[in-house]
Amino acid sequence: MYIVSGCLAGLCCRYDGGDNADERVMKLVAEGRAVPVCPEQLGGLSTPRPPCEISEGKVISNQGADVTESFMRGAEEAFKLAKLTGSKKAILKARSPSCGVGKIYDGTFSGRLIEGDGCFAEMLRKEGFELETE
Ligand code: SF4
Repeated sequence: MYIVSGCLAGLCCRYDGGDNADERVMKLVAEGRAVPVCPEQLGGLSTPRPPCEISEGKVISNQGADVTESFMRGAEEAFKLAKLTGSKKAILKARSPSCGVGKIYDGTFSGRLIEGDGCFAEMLRKEGFELETE
């Protein structure tokens, strides 16, 4: 069983109201081998919503709002679901401030990448999940 980013499963939960549908991930869900989840929506954030990046340990929108609390709440709720499934593997959307694995944007909204995980990915990693991106 895999936990997968909702947007990779074709859900329109991206910040801009779109999806990142990935045929391989959708096939896993259709076969009952993956559960999709969107931590940002579970944190109460609206869709669409302003894009956000992690900067100095906080999650900040491109309008300057500190949305760390919503991101952390969403990561915790998504983490609860991940544990309920008994899964230890996740396929997550690359570079997202919630789902990014190993590389995320640097907080300047300039497209530059730095090493790091999104909030949800970091939680899963600490719990020993195997993480990969699409
Ligand atoms: Fe996709 Fe994760 Fe962003 Fe939700 S939080 S839109 S699942 S990358």
